[in-house]
Amino acid sequence: MHKGSCHCGKTSFEVDGEFTEAMECNCSHCSRKGYLLWFVPREQLKLETPMKNLSIYHFNKHAIDHHFCPDCGCAPFGLGTSKDGKKTAAINVRCLEGFELADVKRVPVDGRSY
Ligand SMILES: [Zn+2]
Repeated sequence: MHKGSCHCGKTSFEVDGEFTEAMECNCSHCSRKGYLLWFVPREQLKLETPMKNLSIYHFNKHAIDHHFCPDCGCAPFGLGTSKDGKKTAAINVRCLEGFELADVKRVPVDGRSY
């Protein structure tokens, strides 16, 4: 279980589970935001604040809701549906507490080429 939040605290949440690695994608969006992503089933993400506190950014195919805080600008997670139809949350581990960032294995993903 990890606690997470944006910087100003307007959004806070908990994520069930553990991670040892995170996806680092080189696409134009992920690289600009510095996302380090951990994918979990949507039900493992529990918001403690209203979803409406977050704004949503869409691009490309609009397949993913990239949620971000309109006040402090942090982008704690994105919500989408995986290829097999399961609702998935992509957690930006940079917005989580209780782990050492240097211990997280970064798995490169070549999103730029897709
Ligand atoms: Zn915020």
